[in-house]
Amino acid sequence: AYKKEGEYEWVRGVCRFCGTGCKVWLGLKNGKPAVIRGEKNSVINFGFLCMKGMLFYKLFRHPDRLTQPLYRKSKKEPFKPISWEKAFDIIADEMIKAIKKGEWGPMGWTGIAYYGSGQALTEETYLFQKFWRCLGSNHVEGNPRLCMASAVGGYLTSFGTDEPAGGYADFEEADTIFIIGSNTAECHPILYRRIMRRKLSNPKEVMVINVDPRVSPTSKIADIHLQFKPGTDLALLNAIANVIIQEGLYDKEFVEKYCSFHKFTKGKDKVPLIGHQVSFEEYKEFVSKYTPEYAAEVCGGNVTPELIRKVARRFATTKTVSIWTMGLNQRTRGVWVNNLVTNLHLLTGNLGKDGADALSLTGQPNACGGVREGGGLCHILPGHRVVKNPKHRAELEKIWGVPKGTIPPKPGYHTVKMFSAISYTEEDKKRFPGLKPIYFIWVNETSPLQSLPNMRRFREGFARDDVFVVVTDIFPTRTSELANMILPCAFHFEKTGVYGCTERRSQLTPKAVKAPGQAMPELWMLVQLGQVLAKKLRKERDPKLRARAKTIYQCVAPFIEAAKRDPWWELSKKVWEEYAQRVTKGRDSTLAGATYEVLLERPDGVQWPAPTVEIARKGGTLRRFVVGKDPLATEFAKKHGLTDWKIIDYGHLHKDHKFWIWLRPYKGPAEPPDAEYPFYLSTGRVIDHWHTGSMTGRIRELAGDYPHTWIEINPKDAQRLGIQPGDLVLLETRRGRNILPARISTEEGPMEGMVFVYWYDQSKDRMINFCTIDAFDPGSKQPEFKICACRIKKYAPA
Ligand code: SF4
Repeated sequence: AYKKEGEYEWVRGVCRFCGTGCKVWLGLKNGKPAVIRGEKNSVINFGFLCMKGMLFYKLFRHPDRLTQPLYRKSKKEPFKPISWEKAFDIIADEMIKAIKKGEWGPMGWTGIAYYGSGQALTEETYLFQKFWRCLGSNHVEGNPRLCMASAVGGYLTSFGTDEPAGGYADFEEADTIFIIGSNTAECHPILYRRIMRRKLSNPKEVMVINVDPRVSPTSKIADIHLQFKPGTDLALLNAIANVIIQEGLYDKEFVEKYCSFHKFTKGKDKVPLIGHQVSFEEYKEFVSKYTPEYAAEVCGGNVTPELIRKVARRFATTKTVSIWTMGLNQRTRGVWVNNLVTNLHLLTGNLGKDGADALSLTGQPNACGGVREGGGLCHILPGHRVVKNPKHRAELEKIWGVPKGTIPPKPGYHTVKMFSAISYTEEDKKRFPGLKPIYFIWVNETSPLQSLPNMRRFREGFARDDVFVVVTDIFPTRTSELANMILPCAFHFEKTGVYGCTERRSQLTPKAVKAPGQAMPELWMLVQLGQVLAKKLRKERDPKLRARAKTIYQCVAPFIEAAKRDPWWELSKKVWEEYAQRVTKGRDSTLAGATYEVLLERPDGVQWPAPTVEIARKGGTLRRFVVGKDPLATEFAKKHGLTDWKIIDYGHLHKDHKFWIWLRPYKGPAEPPDAEYPFYLSTGRVIDHWHTGSMTGRIRELAGDYPHTWIEINPKDAQRLGIQPGDLVLLETRRGRNILPARISTEEGPMEGMVFVYWYDQSKDRMINFCTIDAFDPGSKQPEFKICACRIKKYAPA
């Protein structure tokens, strides 16, 4: 991972931005970051990088970097620098104060919360959640709730276990690439390059199908672009399944051997994730209502019965890879629509073989590795365990050496509920009966006060002085402006740790650059804070609090010496060893063989399951569930006498060891357009900016291309409303308003009756999440950023 070439010293790690996981070399000249190049031997990016990946070295010495702890008692006061010691002293006091103000119950202490990020290292998310659970709180959440919780729910219900079966290598083998709800060209440009290469080198054999209400740069290489009314894809996907069955194109053997059928009955099943088993005949009858004619009518746009039939035949008769992102996940029926895409793969046997996969792409570099696998959401625990399962809690308590019952048995609050417990308005209390207020929150490496939907009241909640807010970040953000304490953390390559990308692949980035000023790794902060908290809790009178002094000390004790000696490398290694070798051991997401040494050796990391060093050295497991290729699947098959199976499910959810095909009916969005708000509003990303723009907005070359966001309007709508390109437009929803310049294009943009806005802009007038809706999927709790009703008109200042 280290080399010297000419005037540069090179260190190998991972890109800081999207979930693709491109491998990079950071070039240092005279010890200073000077250039970034792609790793040619990476099986992800083959040496290529997008602009964001090439330019993030500019952030290391940016003048806006946070370099010392800052504090203010009241949010009306200016920040003042303080020492780390003083910072930990205040934070510990405020945490104890918040715990006492709150209550103790089945989810633990109600007064304190942690909100993390898919940008934190796996070691960091793991230790933060361990810290919170040992302290006695399941209020552990993270921004992946906003981007891919529905994909987690989808995989869990379809496969019985989270995360995809194959990986990016399937692009090179696929005959059909089915892109639904993803602007891959802009959001995952290096994967799009791979898809383009496959298409352009076999233009006649390979077909790209794009399913999206908007014409995006991704649509350019599509052979078929299905453009439909937002939210109607549930009808479309059921209709495709119907054609596959009616025309006898389904893979009978695969379905009979490996699949069972399941249905949710309204009012019968508590959560619309869990259902009961039905027969193939019942499924067949269910989808038969979704005739191509019916679906075409529901979907509108350019969808015709003939196009539906064409897509169905292609899907069923060729090796197909599907990819999707927020277009499916950020929906009130996000889990269902995830299930419906996977249904098509299960019906047609397009899974577990070269060129066939249902691959949900992730937006953040470590949403999979850190949050999904590391236990960074309120209902999950590390190693694909769940809070509600007493066996899982007991396993962790044993590994951590803490008393039985340390981890509270009930999940904490999911994101919208957590922030509602901070704003705590009458409306919030009505919406979530029994809601308990939160008085302390630690926000790590993310900016919820720009990224949350319908965020006005959340911002008002943060502004109150009875809520103590800690923010760890590298730059000031729209969230840190409402903090009490800002802690400067070390950036990527300034500390050591692992990111796990979309395809179950974990990669290590070692420390290469000195962090500026007093910036420190979060792991170090937690180890210090744990010791301070333990001392203070020991003096408390309440025995429940005093007992937590011991557990919080036990939580950080294995790392105290390493934190003293070397917080930049040794501390991370210690935490990784506990996580990978002990916590993931024996689980389907095991990385027990992926030591730091192995991860340093490999140019492309390790895909789990990787139970031994020997397997990890070979790169881990490319294809899950396949006996002979997946070591855990093989072991499982033997144990259960299933050696004749080609593909098996060893997940913890499906007791019948089968993949589940779901009966999911069409249901529209939470807030469809009406006479008052006649347009669909949708939001998303642009190629040069990443998420809230707090980093990419500070890179001149990227910010120069896109200095501000705009509203994309269909030319027909623009003409009707007298709006010209560049005109200011007033956009209003039931929750807020924005004033945005218009972008009108005949080549790209939303369908008639729909507008689209990018969300990276930090300007208060243009932060689109003042307008989006916070309705969420009842299973995954992911909000519906992709669809709400709005109205627009040319803006005329008074
Ligand atoms: Fe980084 Fe994603 Fe670009 Fe790759 S595609 S260089 S991971 S931002």
